[in-house]
Amino acid sequence: MENTAYPNLQIDLQKLYKNAKKLVSFANANGINITGVVKGSDSSKEVAKEFIKAGCMGIADSRIEKLAKLKEEGIKEDMMLLRVPMLCEVEQVVRYSEISLNSEIVVLEALNIEANNQNKIHKVILMADLGDLREGYIDEEELIKTALHIETKLDNLHMYGVGTNLGCFGAICPDESNLGKLVQISEKISALIGRKLEIVSGGATTSLPLLLDGKMPKGINHLRVGEAMLLARDLIDLWGYSMEGYHTDTFVLEAQVIEVKEKPSHPIGRIFVDAFGNTPEYEDKGIRKRALIALGKKDIGHHYSLIPKLKGITVEGSSSDHVILDVTDAVEEIHVGDIIEFELYYQAMLYLTASTSVKKVYLY
Ligand SMILES: *Cc1c(COP(=O)(O)O)cnc(C)c1O
Repeated sequence: MENTAYPNLQIDLQKLYKNAKKLVSFANANGINITGVVKGSDSSKEVAKEFIKAGCMGIADSRIEKLAKLKEEGIKEDMMLLRVPMLCEVEQVVRYSEISLNSEIVVLEALNIEANNQNKIHKVILMADLGDLREGYIDEEELIKTALHIETKLDNLHMYGVGTNLGCFGAICPDESNLGKLVQISEKISALIGRKLEIVSGGATTSLPLLLDGKMPKGINHLRVGEAMLLARDLIDLWGYSMEGYHTDTFVLEAQVIEVKEKPSHPIGRIFVDAFGNTPEYEDKGIRKRALIALGKKDIGHHYSLIPKLKGITVEGSSSDHVILDVTDAVEEIHVGDIIEFELYYQAMLYLTASTSVKKVYLY
């Protein structure tokens, strides 16, 4: 059976292009190249094409099968694998990506052997952990020794650069001090191997505030950006930048109302645990008009990542297959069969683009 008309996800490619163009131009003017990260869009080839058109130097994803898919779909630019490789996937990493981010010598040795088998030179970026505690070398000396080993011993690898990732596990802010450290590491390696490393990759969307404030350390010449081009929301809502000219309505969810009833806002009976094992608290606001829409956590992750477009609607909660809205104060009356539109935060985009129950509608 084909997907029903709703729920659907409208993906505005012109707006995506404009976001990407604006960001890439700004970054380039500051000496920084951008690799377009498409994992938040379920690795959409349409999105990848807009990123390339806008001037991204390549496309990146965290999963090798997605890069393989994009190659099959005709994307010709360099592919970068973001998640450090599993030992069981080195064959595919060499086959389907030109560049990978790395942090383990055993994996690098395996990549080198495989690149030799495939008669290729595979580019590697060594990751430094500057405090966020996800991937990367926390010991600077070990990173530098590994870089030298790649340069002198691993003939089928090209020591392409260094990189870091911040604002993920540890929620650490990129700043002049930690990114300055990355530049220092790159300079030490460059001195040691007698040539300048091509790439000093200073992070993701969370590194953009430094650039916007004119505080990006000199020497950072590359960023891997997804969110700021896909949704451009976090820099506005979390960081307080105005981001004028960027579009936040690139991905719009349309969902259909399946029930509208006046109900108490406080559940009736003893509160135990909800569908996900949490014990929620409810504010008693008296009798309210509630609307149910036909999609749920399975499609959106968490309802916090939905932003209703119509004024006066609030998102009250969700289960696997339902989202509950309070429509009492909606500026228009809501009926069964109506379509409610939402803008998205990253999590909802991530789930919706991958949901097989949601129809994708590209606007060209
Ligand atoms: C996801 C990811 C990015 C892109 O992150 P955004 O917040 O979407 O810009 C960059 N680098 C790595 C290693 C990633 O995993």
